[in-house]
Amino acid sequence: MTFAAIDETHDPALVSWVASAEGHVDFPVQNLPYGVFSNAGRGRRIGVAIGDLILDLAAISDLLPVNHEAVRSTTLNALLAGSPAESVLLRRAVSALLCDRGRQVAIEPHLHSAQGCEMHLPAQIGDYTDFYVGIHHATNIGKLFRPDNPLLPNYKYVPIGYHGRASSVRASGVAVRRPSGQRKAPDGDFPLFGPSMRLDYELELGIWIGGGNELGEPVPIGDAASRIAGFCLLNDWSARDFQAWEYVPLGPFLSKSFHSTISPWVITAEAMAPFRLAQPPRPEGDPQPLPHLWDEADQSHGALGLDLEVFLSSAVMRAAGMAAQRLSVGPATSMYWTAQQIVAHHASNGCNLSAGDLLGTGTLSSSGSDGYGSLMEMTEGGRTKISLPTGEERTFLEDGDEVVLKATARAEGYVPIGFGQCRAIIEPAR
Ligand code: MN
Repeated sequence: MTFAAIDETHDPALVSWVASAEGHVDFPVQNLPYGVFSNAGRGRRIGVAIGDLILDLAAISDLLPVNHEAVRSTTLNALLAGSPAESVLLRRAVSALLCDRGRQVAIEPHLHSAQGCEMHLPAQIGDYTDFYVGIHHATNIGKLFRPDNPLLPNYKYVPIGYHGRASSVRASGVAVRRPSGQRKAPDGDFPLFGPSMRLDYELELGIWIGGGNELGEPVPIGDAASRIAGFCLLNDWSARDFQAWEYVPLGPFLSKSFHSTISPWVITAEAMAPFRLAQPPRPEGDPQPLPHLWDEADQSHGALGLDLEVFLSSAVMRAAGMAAQRLSVGPATSMYWTAQQIVAHHASNGCNLSAGDLLGTGTLSSSGSDGYGSLMEMTEGGRTKISLPTGEERTFLEDGDEVVLKATARAEGYVPIGFGQCRAIIEPAR
């Protein structure tokens, strides 16, 4: 398996003539994520985040060594479908344009203040699949149902997943309408229909598929890295009361499909090159994965050095000008399966993946309670409460609450890069 290589675009000494890129918490010149934006009454275009600005890639496409049609599109699908070698070429070209002071006069007119831009879904998402590879989350949730036997026997052989709903994925910032559905209290005789009373978030990493595979053609584990174009944050909003009632025997359905929120920037596999880690060794006694999911290079470089955070603010907190409260922070190494194992597994039966497909890792919780990636875990299924600085308390989300997910990749000797924000406010049920 070959992962993107570290090159001059990752050099920590690299300086852009875009002043706000220097030390930017998310978008220094070493990041260069792609997204789709619009502003000033003009339609959707592909852009690159650099500091507090967005570079209109379509406007400078003549200067770029790529498929110009792909760059002038209103979605990233064609760009994501490019080969890893093409992605490297484009990244190097954009990096050079933003660092060469001789180019400043030509490029500067095509930079826009990010604050004045609207961000859209980066791709037309053909399919969305959600996995369950956060082992601490799977254990915590399993314990709520089966205290003595939290993980089912398939968990350590199969990256567990279900098919999500692509049509209801929205970019960060779009409000989430509290869903209505069926729930049945444990001591109730029959279910009721109404607004969810146990609305939760799920902190997840999103994986963007680049090069796809034909129907009937599996993706060998050794090729899986080449099919991953990039990453984003994913909030898989979940109505726990509906989920508990509906999930047997076919898994989540309406408890998840009402809305999913993603961060709008695609952090490329190339940008993540310095932040590769060895996959943590499987605990003593765990089974060896079957050969179609096992690759030595994947085990030595397939994990990500990424810290994930969740913040919550109530409407009262925001009206009072209070900062959001951080609910958790934890590492992406809580993934029991790597992104590459997820891709190889998904395609192992010949299921075709396409550029712009979105895969979710599942909730990523760390082993300690300060890193739980959902309220279900933090409040032990709603039995305990979280206190907010206003004195308000939460077991699950209330109307007006805003959830913000963030992620930062860090590695010794490299400039940290961020994912931008994945945020949304809960609106009352209709
Ligand atoms: Mn999920």
